[in-house]
Amino acid sequence: MWSEVKSRRGRPKVHDSNGQACMNTACEYYRDTDAGFHALRWDGQRNACEATDQWECGACGRKHTARLGTPIYRLKTSSTQVALATHLAMKGLSIADISEVLVHSPETVARWLERDGEHSERLHEQLFRELVVVHVQLDEVVTRVRRWAQRAWVWTAQDVQSKALLAWHVGGRAQADAHRLVHRVTEVLARTCVPVFTSDGLRQYFYALTAHFGQWVEQAGKRKPVWQALPSLLYGQFRKVKAGRKLKQVYTKMLCGERSVLQTVLQSIGLSGGIQTSYVERLNLTLRHTVAALRRRTWALAYRVDRLRWRVALAAAYYNFCRTHHALRVEMGEGRYRGRTPAMALGVTGHQWSVREFITHPVY
Ligand SMILES: [Zn+2]
Repeated sequence: MWSEVKSRRGRPKVHDSNGQACMNTACEYYRDTDAGFHALRWDGQRNACEATDQWECGACGRKHTARLGTPIYRLKTSSTQVALATHLAMKGLSIADISEVLVHSPETVARWLERDGEHSERLHEQLFRELVVVHVQLDEVVTRVRRWAQRAWVWTAQDVQSKALLAWHVGGRAQADAHRLVHRVTEVLARTCVPVFTSDGLRQYFYALTAHFGQWVEQAGKRKPVWQALPSLLYGQFRKVKAGRKLKQVYTKMLCGERSVLQTVLQSIGLSGGIQTSYVERLNLTLRHTVAALRRRTWALAYRVDRLRWRVALAAAYYNFCRTHHALRVEMGEGRYRGRTPAMALGVTGHQWSVREFITHPVY
């Protein structure tokens, strides 16, 4: 620990280095973001466009800018400008709109948003880990992609209690896409956590879920072990029967586990106990408003599927970290409420993030 090694003389620390880390792989404080441990000291401010903190590692001497590990690393633009572009994108403006408002070329804005999207995915990977959740709803929304001249699907998985978007995937509607979504769900969950799943009637979910929440079982009379869904896996589908565009009837079907057990688990977290997907459908409606290209009958179609991918990732970060959710607010007494974001409800962070904090928070 650096504070024990270094001399007690000298000026006390006035600049908070928490969250920053030495990125010298040979240094003993490599990737250590804890200000109480690492050896970082403030080294003034640099940069032509905006004053940016510079940090020096006391142990190895390596210097880095506070922009390292953020979407604005090596950009010659102020963080407020990029934060504004990001915020406008999160409010559903298209790249052409943002380019017009901020007087930057569409290519520049697209590059910023791409970096934001990558940043969101890395932030999600870093902070959404070892989660224990009770009920996950799965759904997919479809949109057209101009360059493909075909449709793209945005797959989403939501934790019902915290309302957090646990995982998402942009791609086609094949079995591999369902696998990708469920795999990303398992990546954020604790190893022992097997939540209750509900989805619509798409059969790809069943194979993806039993593939990820299953085990090899020895069976009498068979030479080789057989792959079986975990006995604790509970999965129900909410199926809609449509005649043309009209909804004809709905019914539910249990695919894994007992319906009574599923009912008890859902009632234990204050739900009615029925199989439904209304929460994730509501979330997808929010996504449709946040991502310009996902709106119905829109001019702002995504040109390429990767561009759509970054926009969805950005929308996910905005939804999880920056926006308070009405259903999550806590009563403070005297008719006052404290807003909470899904990430706060999940215990991943302690406060509501501003868009500027999102783009200046380093992920190493
Ligand atoms: Zn170092």
